[in-house]
Amino acid sequence: MDHRIIVQLDNVSKSYPEGSDNQRREIFNNLSLSIESGQSVSVVGPSGCGKSTLLNIIGSLDSPDSGKVEVCGSNISDLNDKALSALRADKIGFVFQSHHLLPQISVIENVMLPNLASSAPIEQNECSNRAIQLLESVGMADHANKMPSEISGGEMQRVAVVRSMINSPELLLADEPTGALDLARGEELISLLLHLCEGQKTALILVTHDIKTASRMQRNLAFEGTGIVEV
Ligand code: ADP
Ligand code: MG
Repeated sequence: MDHRIIVQLDNVSKSYPEGSDNQRREIFNNLSLSIESGQSVSVVGPSGCGKSTLLNIIGSLDSPDSGKVEVCGSNISDLNDKALSALRADKIGFVFQSHHLLPQISVIENVMLPNLASSAPIEQNECSNRAIQLLESVGMADHANKMPSEISGGEMQRVAVVRSMINSPELLLADEPTGALDLARGEELISLLLHLCEGQKTALILVTHDIKTASRMQRNLAFEGTGIVEV
């Protein structure tokens, strides 16, 4: 078993300005956290507690006020914009509540799109084969040449999951990916996420409101005040 550390947070603090006169709201204070390759981890907590902020910091879309953030062996604060873009494109997959598929291009073109952002893109044919294989694994191969408007919301979300995996990320960040789906479609999507991540040894951090969904992950984290506890 590979026990490489994929995410390491050391004493990370984050606050946002709130109201007038230089007031700040503390989102988390001296948060430390370590996640290994292939681990699945849920994050729960009430709305507004900082779940998306945490994912954004881990995904280098936001920066902490203080503390160290290491992702896939790189200290985020050491990286310039170009290196950060490469880290995000090559090593990290993102899935959000909304699918963010581009409406003007087909399902398979959407899936292949992140390959263009990769710092080491694979050849077009190979990428297309990989996209088909991934679509197949979520039961969407028959829809490869459809436009996003021609498939259902649940299907779009499955495509978004596949797109997030096209560059074989080491880390997948999923922010309430089932938030817009009904219960059955949601459970199915989580199964697909877990299956894909297990197959590629991708670490998964899943933010969810749903305790039952959370319990399907190997580790369960919950926000408590300005900290996080393992539950
Ligand atoms: P969650 O995802 O748990 O619902 P968020 O991480 O989105 O919570 O937000 C945590 C808190 O930080 C909220 O009170 C939110 O209003 C605030 N917040 C988030 N992003 C910003 C920002 N860019 N500027 C100011 N406040 C923010
Ligand atoms: Mg959120």
